[in-house]
Amino acid sequence: MHLPDLCGVGMTSQRTRDRLVGRLSKQGIKDRKVLDVMAREPRHLFLDEALSHRAYEDTALPIGHSQTLSQPWIVARMSELVHQESPSKVLEIGTGSGYQTLILSRLVEELWSVERINALHQLAGRRLRLLKARNVHLRLADGGQGWTEEAPFDAILLTACAKKLPEALLAQLGDGGVLITPLEDARGNQWLTRVRRENDQFEYERLEPVRFVPLLEGVIR
Ligand code: SAH
Repeated sequence: MHLPDLCGVGMTSQRTRDRLVGRLSKQGIKDRKVLDVMAREPRHLFLDEALSHRAYEDTALPIGHSQTLSQPWIVARMSELVHQESPSKVLEIGTGSGYQTLILSRLVEELWSVERINALHQLAGRRLRLLKARNVHLRLADGGQGWTEEAPFDAILLTACAKKLPEALLAQLGDGGVLITPLEDARGNQWLTRVRRENDQFEYERLEPVRFVPLLEGVIR
């Protein structure tokens, strides 16, 4: 893995990062803390060297294994939806590159993140250790099962799209908690969706159209 010298690269990319954050703010991201964290953290370290020069474009980029690092706008949007709940314990399904994980880790007290592809899980772990994200716990597993031992969570975030939410995840959401996820409708269109739990009722709120890779079952070692 290529992990360039953090200081040097951080300095040269600060301007492009500021420009990206300026665009995100114009596109409706209001949470100052989310924008500040994204202005500070190095997205280029979550990409292969050949793609790192495109890290501050507002676009999704491939991370291998047919998976993608989400577009900065969607990372910002999902992060603000989680952050506005001021959650302490958060569960993320789909660590992927680890970039969304890093941003969230700077906004919440403690974060658990599950990935089903071992190669991605390992690489994300190395990056997050390097960047001292000490409040993050990673696990290689099928995220559809959640993280039973740590439940309930104040917020759950899925970065892969399901047609129907796994029961285990709904069960691990605490009372008053929110689950932020892409969800596919009957026509195959995906919608960013906020599910809020009140006692044992789950209220679904459709937000904006999105495009994510599918939530899949099983683990790839
Ligand atoms: N947030 C990540 C997005 C990666 S794409 C990033 O910004 O890099 C979605 C990720 O979800 C992929 O890494 C994929 O392997 C993972 N995924 C899909 N289904 C899963 C499941 N059931 N459990 C855990 N991870 C899953």
